[in-house]
Amino acid sequence: MKYYSTNGNAPIADLHKAVVKGLAEDRGLYMPEEIKILPKTFFDNIHEMSFQQIAYNVASAFFGEDVDLDALQDIVYDTLSFDCPVVKVKDNIYSLELFHGPTLAFKDVGARFMARLLQYFIRMEGQKEEVNVLVATSGDTGSAVANGFLGVEGIHVYVLYPKGKVSPIQECQFTTLGKNITAIEVDGVFDDCQALVKSAFMDEELNKHMKLTSANSINVARFLPQAFYYFNAYARMKEKFSNGQIVMCVPSGNFGNICSALFGHQMGLPVKRFIAANNANDIFYKYLQTGKYEPKASIQTLANAMDVGDPSNFARIINLYSKNNTLTDEATHHRITNLISGATYNDEQIKETMCQCYEETGYILDPHGACGYQALEDGLQEGEIGVFCETAHPAKFKEKVDDILSIDVEIPDRLAAFMKGTKQCVPMTKDFADFKQYLMNQ
Ligand SMILES: *Cc1c(COP(=O)(O)O)cnc(C)c1O
Repeated sequence: MKYYSTNGNAPIADLHKAVVKGLAEDRGLYMPEEIKILPKTFFDNIHEMSFQQIAYNVASAFFGEDVDLDALQDIVYDTLSFDCPVVKVKDNIYSLELFHGPTLAFKDVGARFMARLLQYFIRMEGQKEEVNVLVATSGDTGSAVANGFLGVEGIHVYVLYPKGKVSPIQECQFTTLGKNITAIEVDGVFDDCQALVKSAFMDEELNKHMKLTSANSINVARFLPQAFYYFNAYARMKEKFSNGQIVMCVPSGNFGNICSALFGHQMGLPVKRFIAANNANDIFYKYLQTGKYEPKASIQTLANAMDVGDPSNFARIINLYSKNNTLTDEATHHRITNLISGATYNDEQIKETMCQCYEETGYILDPHGACGYQALEDGLQEGEIGVFCETAHPAKFKEKVDDILSIDVEIPDRLAAFMKGTKQCVPMTKDFADFKQYLMNQ
């Protein structure tokens, strides 16, 4: 499969290059030249297949031309060592729990898949030199990437995080691992961490000294595998309903997760329509209303993994529905609003939703999932069955959830195990010269 850039000014890339580079030379996002439609027999039998079998079929459509099929199966089966149940919350609203992975985040799937795919390419080429992944995090991405790459030979990961600005639970998910994971505690804010990573990628001397790559969420190997979730959800719903019209609702920040669902839809996934649920960062919501995309600085909210003011995968959605920029802006907007609607909730509304849902149903929503749940409450029509993604385990936001619901959320064993480990990190200033010196000594 060849990959082109959404900006249309970069050379066509193969999968290996798209994964190692992340971003195209013209700073556009890579898109596969073809999205394969899956055969009718696949959808007819999907409810009899396991999550891993379904995912392998989907992965073959994306990556089957570029990865040996046995190896691909191995990568998929290794990535999906956990379940993603669809749980009934009330009436016609279901929660697709994406938080049963190693760090209890839906990003685990993309991170692990990317780690294993990168390793496959390194081995194929008999590459001797170690590859170094740099990742800046405000919490969730760092833990998913660190755990996804943990123990993967030939790759070293440096996680840069802002000192004192990530929750204690998140921090121990990437500072206690050891092995090929190094946590770098930057005396600054998240933007400083991101700036250090960007400067490192642009520094010629450093790039000669070591092979650097990113594990950013715009990477095709990180966002595409999330489509597995939606096919599996459809299969599990199909077991329950033979002819319900499914509405998928995705709490969105950078729009990678919903974008993978939209790729699934293009492959024939029978979902009637989608809802993108936002917190107070309502840039996409406004785009749906007005047709104008006006990025802003992000606002801090309770659902902080969705605090994004310029969603990076917006360009992919536009590219998908403009048929690679061949349609007018109006026609593209029309196609998008026909399939996707939006919702936006501020912190007060998020709290209210969490309380109401808990009182009424006993289900504990985290602040991100709450946006998805409420968007279904507000937007479901007669005859529709709604499935929202619960993107994080409520214990990951324990302080907030306990406070809002006046409960004591149980911490799952897996999360508690991280907290028993010993924290190890490298202190760093936000000055690039210091960071560069450190990397030059590795
Ligand atoms: C990353 C994240 C999101 C947003 O996903 P996108 O793919 O960036 O839209 C939502 N909820 C949680 C808990 C996350 O970690």
